[in-house]
Amino acid sequence: MFASDMLVEVRSHIRYWGFLLLKLAAAAMGAACSLWFLNLFFLPYTEFFQFINYSKFPFDLSYTTLFGVWFLFAYGLFYLAVWDQRYRCRTCLRRLRMPVETGSWGYMLQLGRPQIEYICAYGHGKLNIDEVQISGTVAPEWTEQGDIWAELFAESTTDGKGGDHSDSDYDR
Ligand SMILES: [Zn+2]
Repeated sequence: MFASDMLVEVRSHIRYWGFLLLKLAAAAMGAACSLWFLNLFFLPYTEFFQFINYSKFPFDLSYTTLFGVWFLFAYGLFYLAVWDQRYRCRTCLRRLRMPVETGSWGYMLQLGRPQIEYICAYGHGKLNIDEVQISGTVAPEWTEQGDIWAELFAESTTDGKGGDHSDSDYDR
């Protein structure tokens, strides 16, 4: 039982981080292809895996400027991959939904600091992100909720097995 729980946990970790690695690989591929496309407009021809046209880079201002723009574009691709990962469910990788503001500066002792709370639509957990990051960047807090449907299904199976139990449910 314990070993299977651990296996499920390891598998979900591999899925979550593997998905990030896949996105980073796609970003690297996109960056490499766009640089290759940029290089097509400048002689001499640059091989795909040579990346930078060294005979133009330090001497041709237009090439150097376009290279700078490409660098920002490539940086944006990697940033998007990491940003998207933050708002994904840690269990099923779906996008987190339904942002709700919680907490209040005026009632901080009762309600806590203002945060934005996202949930997984399939009930795997919730993510709290601080609204104001005063002391540096605060890592978002993920709270796992387990399978909220498990209780429902457990009840329906016991109903199926024992007739007396379901009768007592109807009596209530
Ligand atoms: Zn989920």
